[in-house]
Amino acid sequence: MDGPSGSGKSSVSRGVARALGLRYLDTGAMYRAMTWWMLREGVDLGDPAAIAARCAEPSIEPGTDPDGPTIHVDGVDVGGPIREADVTGAVSVVAAVPEVRVRLVALQREIIGAGGIVVEGRDIGTVVCPDASVKVYLTASPEARARRRSAEVAGSTVEAQQEAMARRDTLDSTRKTDPLSMAAGAVELDTTALTLDEVIAEVLRLVAD
Ligand code: C5P
Repeated sequence: MDGPSGSGKSSVSRGVARALGLRYLDTGAMYRAMTWWMLREGVDLGDPAAIAARCAEPSIEPGTDPDGPTIHVDGVDVGGPIREADVTGAVSVVAAVPEVRVRLVALQREIIGAGGIVVEGRDIGTVVCPDASVKVYLTASPEARARRRSAEVAGSTVEAQQEAMARRDTLDSTRKTDPLSMAAGAVELDTTALTLDEVIAEVLRLVAD
């Protein structure tokens, strides 16, 4: 399940995994966890070589239960801190470093193993699981995405969210290594006018076909 932020990937992926009794992996949380660690260590995020030099150090352990996804860094629960504004503002810069991607993609493939899992991110259909049995690319209008995100983040306005998302989308879709793009064989689903249950039902139909 790929798509830009606010397209509904997390809620849809978790709902589909729950309905089918599958595991669930949030790869964005892994990039956020790496970013949280870099910030805590005081690594200069303006220097890709500094990020590359340190990115093998933290142990990053995501849980795969769709009813309660967890994420730990070196044994510390960072589920809350990785959603804070400092991490959100820096994650696209860290995720653009090729060495970070090589390490996290390898970890993701280890967790995915033989399959039986719904995986969400930006490069799942293109890079991580090009042989996935179903590939979905979720989209929604910029306004709908910003509205959803600002409802999740306390004290934020729709305008501020839209601006921050546009910045992150540009960085994510123009980076040199594995930019956000629709995979060959992916089905594009525009969720702007659909409820969460309608999107989940549509994905379940694709799985059943
Ligand atoms: O999905 P989420 O918004 O939490 O992802 C945070 C960031 O992590 C994205 O904006 C992107 O920079 C990066 N990411 C990525 N590849 C993935 C998942 C997330 O580059 N597979």
